[in-house]
Amino acid sequence: MPKIQMVDLQGQYRKIKSEIDTAIMECVESASFINGPKVKAFQESLERYLDVKHVIPCGNGTDALQIAMMGMGLKPGDEVIVPSFTYVATVEVIALLGLNPVMVDVDEDTFNLTGEIIEQAITVHTRAIVPVHLFGQSTDMDPIQKVADKYNLSIIEDNAQSIGAIYTFEDGRSAKTGAIGQVGCTSFYPSKNLGAYGDGGALCTNNDDLAAKFRMIANHGQSEKYHHKYIGLNSRLDAIQAAILDVKLKYLDDYIAARQKAAKYYDEAFAEIDLLQTPARQPNSTHVFHQYTLIVKEGHRDQLKKFLHERGIPSMIYYPLPLNEQEAFKGRGRKVGDLLVTKSLCQSVLSLPIHTEMNEEQLAYICENVKDFFEKMC
Ligand SMILES: *Cc1c(COP(=O)(O)O)cnc(C)c1O
Repeated sequence: MPKIQMVDLQGQYRKIKSEIDTAIMECVESASFINGPKVKAFQESLERYLDVKHVIPCGNGTDALQIAMMGMGLKPGDEVIVPSFTYVATVEVIALLGLNPVMVDVDEDTFNLTGEIIEQAITVHTRAIVPVHLFGQSTDMDPIQKVADKYNLSIIEDNAQSIGAIYTFEDGRSAKTGAIGQVGCTSFYPSKNLGAYGDGGALCTNNDDLAAKFRMIANHGQSEKYHHKYIGLNSRLDAIQAAILDVKLKYLDDYIAARQKAAKYYDEAFAEIDLLQTPARQPNSTHVFHQYTLIVKEGHRDQLKKFLHERGIPSMIYYPLPLNEQEAFKGRGRKVGDLLVTKSLCQSVLSLPIHTEMNEEQLAYICENVKDFFEKMC
């Protein structure tokens, strides 16, 4: 049995090696390393895939969030509502720009924001909401859209973990995550569902003016060469990464299907274990399983992790500490309520290996060992 890993990027590469190698060599031969035809081609492929008018590639997902907030004209003192149960990047850029992060709790089943939670956090200073589509499924966007409309707030989607997920609105329309709010931000970090071989990210929007502004900000605020309309960043997607991503994008739906198949295997194997809660599905979203995250009840999480580790099975805790309790954010912004769900999740979640190359033998071995642990416990 191949060694079990959280992600298997080498195995994935081997299957598309000749296509990837050709794409990289074409870049090297053309000596067009920044912007140029490969970046344009990937941008257009991603616009088609997401069914969105504009994709603006940039250096990484964190920059995408920063460019979004700069481009939308958020000013120091403005409040931005963000979940306390997420990766640090989301709240980091809010703080960096002198905005006030307002950290709120999440739904205990889907781990995502809800309209109700957001509404409780709104003040006269609130300007934007950042729904993070955590672990691979969409936040329930209809109620959030209603709150945003009612209070005239912008929606900046953090879609770093859910590219390819499809959300169906109340009226029957559907859209891919990232293409729902004013702007969606994503990451091509290697282990993300659409991963480059280095850093990368993108913004997407259907708004022409915002798109033009984001594009300038990502490139030193330049309107034309050496003419700077805005203070910007140097945040561009390398052509080599774009070429790799353009190849991998063709396989993204197959990759998603492979992740969903592994998730189904886990779901069925764990259905009878009372002390485990398998991932709840948002009814109006597909789930692309960036992570397969269990809730381990009654304080057994750390023992289970250790037990699996001793049997050669890696697992990860996403995330061990609420953002409002991180040293860097002490005294920054504010939190709303006691964030009890976040606190409890940080103590009970465990993510199992899930990736595009998992085979049945590996899945069976992982499931047997998880079951074994609970049989010994109880
Ligand atoms: C990965 C990630 C980011 C940041 O992306 P980078 O490309 O690593 O900068 C932002 N938000 C979430 C939720 C992420 O998972």
